[in-house]
Amino acid sequence: MLKEPLVREYLNDIIEDENLVIVQCLLDGTNTDEEIAEKTNIKLNIVRKILYKLYDSGLASYKRSKDPETQWYTYAWKFDSETIVNHIEDKYKEHIDKLKVLLDFEENTMFFTCETKHQRFTFDEASENGFICPECGEEIKFEENNSIIKRIKEEITNYETNYNALKMKNAK
Ligand SMILES: [Zn+2]
Repeated sequence: MLKEPLVREYLNDIIEDENLVIVQCLLDGTNTDEEIAEKTNIKLNIVRKILYKLYDSGLASYKRSKDPETQWYTYAWKFDSETIVNHIEDKYKEHIDKLKVLLDFEENTMFFTCETKHQRFTFDEASENGFICPECGEEIKFEENNSIIKRIKEEITNYETNYNALKMKNAK
């Protein structure tokens, strides 16, 4: 699961790359902070900090139980794979939708700009300015936006590919 680029990217917003091994431990069934610290050689207080960060983001939960002999509490942690997939799905659906709106706008709008490309104007905006750039006083001319359209399309495809791969994997 951690090999998924979207999962990694999402987790990297919450925890550092070097601490992803803690998540891997949880996924593998190691569930107490002490065991994780031992297994990963990461300091116990850091392991705890990361676990609470995950908890705070809704990606991990724990069960507390009392050891009948020592009377100490132990916390059994669990990583919530389903939640992270849902979070990512929501986030990327929103992102892809935004890109599609942007693409639609780029495809259906004529843009104008000056030689120095100070600002992009729609036809109406360019017209309001008398086809003169307010910053440099040069003429504003029609600007080809094919390369921008191409880039947005590539970005959408990229996101959709990752997104579908993630969905397929988790549907199994
Ligand atoms: Zn200008």
